[in-house]
Amino acid sequence: MSSGGRIRVLLAASEAYPLIKTGGLADVVGALPLALRRLGVDARLLLPAYPAARAALSPLRPLVTTALHGAQFTLLRADLPGQGRELLPVYLLESSAFSRPGDPYRDDSGRDWPDNPARFTLFCRAAAALALGRLVSWQADVVHAHDWQTGLLPALLNVETKRPGSVFTIHNLAYQGLIEPGAAAALMLPEAWMSADKLEFYGRLSMIKGGLVFADRLTTVSPRYAEEIKTEAFGCGLDGLLRHRSGVLSGILNGIDTEIWNPAKDPALAATFDATSLPARAINKAALQSEFGLRVTPEPLLLGLVGRLVEQKGVDLLLAALDLLPADVQIAVLGSGDASHVAALQAAAAAAPGRVAFRAGYDEALAHLIQGGVDAFLVPSRFEPCGLTQLYALRYGAVPIVRAVGGLADTVVDASPANLAAGRATGVVFDEASGAALAAAVLRALGLYRAAEPWRQMQLTGMAADHGWETSAAAYRDLYHEVRPTSRP
Ligand code: ADP
Repeated sequence: MSSGGRIRVLLAASEAYPLIKTGGLADVVGALPLALRRLGVDARLLLPAYPAARAALSPLRPLVTTALHGAQFTLLRADLPGQGRELLPVYLLESSAFSRPGDPYRDDSGRDWPDNPARFTLFCRAAAALALGRLVSWQADVVHAHDWQTGLLPALLNVETKRPGSVFTIHNLAYQGLIEPGAAAALMLPEAWMSADKLEFYGRLSMIKGGLVFADRLTTVSPRYAEEIKTEAFGCGLDGLLRHRSGVLSGILNGIDTEIWNPAKDPALAATFDATSLPARAINKAALQSEFGLRVTPEPLLLGLVGRLVEQKGVDLLLAALDLLPADVQIAVLGSGDASHVAALQAAAAAAPGRVAFRAGYDEALAHLIQGGVDAFLVPSRFEPCGLTQLYALRYGAVPIVRAVGGLADTVVDASPANLAAGRATGVVFDEASGAALAAAVLRALGLYRAAEPWRQMQLTGMAADHGWETSAAAYRDLYHEVRPTSRP
């Protein structure tokens, strides 16, 4: 440990809000290190120097230029302001590999960049060098890597005799960073890794396995998902390995940034509100209806969905449910993703103008207005490691309607008669992955909405729940202390 006694932790990740974001990973990596610093951890972040990240940070100080396995890069340093006066120290890896604007992983047509394996191998090599104190005078007691993009980091550290401890967090097991054998050879990784008990996965090299096999501790972003991924149904072919490592695998629920997602201060809302001023939500509802071209009227149950339009998110369940819903239920969807889902949602909106509306694209401010304006928020996912949108919904008084999987099951309390009577209910939870089951859940919600008082009670119970980062950050801090070098044999 550093002389001051603060444990030094390097969080390495491929995205972090507000610098670059494609999904929940960015929200987590943007908020967790600041919450850790508030707990006295010397947490620092390493991110690729994408143009968007460079543009958002100034001043940027070059620290060192060097090369690893023939790939040249410069390490830059900046501070990212948090809320209040706190600053998060950020290192940026500047390299031609990360100089393309736009999405960090894909070209404009949605295809993965073919050199992603080389890009993120370089990122992991640089992260290892930084953590080991080979680039600057700061070094890490623990590295915390996230998802396949940083999977090689625990593996690279493992070949060192004196190394920091390592924690690897699975935000989504379905994305694994699989590399064809020819491309893997070009990366000049240890040959011994190409075996099934190391990084090999059915003839290819799996970057996520670097984390799953070699990290000292594995975490995932909800307790339920930690159990699910040990089963064939949710394990994406890795359930055997995860069962084998179950002794070091745990679930730590994601928190949310309660400053950025605060309905009492949110600049994206037409009217701010809190639990004492719920009627102000009607102003947001009208603004949202108008923004989406829906009929502007207070009565109908207005449903919202915001998310990546991929199979995981259950967009097909929503499409199948549409015909089963009463004509006075309105729906507003915001999302980007698969062309087939985009086309299907556009067709559904065209078929029901004024009632079903779809906005294709990524729009952070509109995502906030949806949370503040809809009556109920849909998350019909086939699987969901944690899910953040239902947590934002709870905080914004939008009643979540979710499938009973992963973090959705861990964070939403179903409006069963017993839970309603006990004042515990916060949403509507359904089991089956079908349009009929989703429609039945919406109808159940509609009954409660029309009854008014149980609905208001659910809104208030959801808004009172604490989903800030403090508890979860403390759980990560405790894990870091378990794996820091002095506590290893
Ligand atoms: P995932 O990480 O699987 O995408 P999460 O629910 O954990 O799902 O996080 C999604 C995050 O991305 C949330 O902050 C959500 O508001 C945001 N988001 C997703 N799609 C969009 C979009 N089209 N426009 C704005 N924000 C979006």
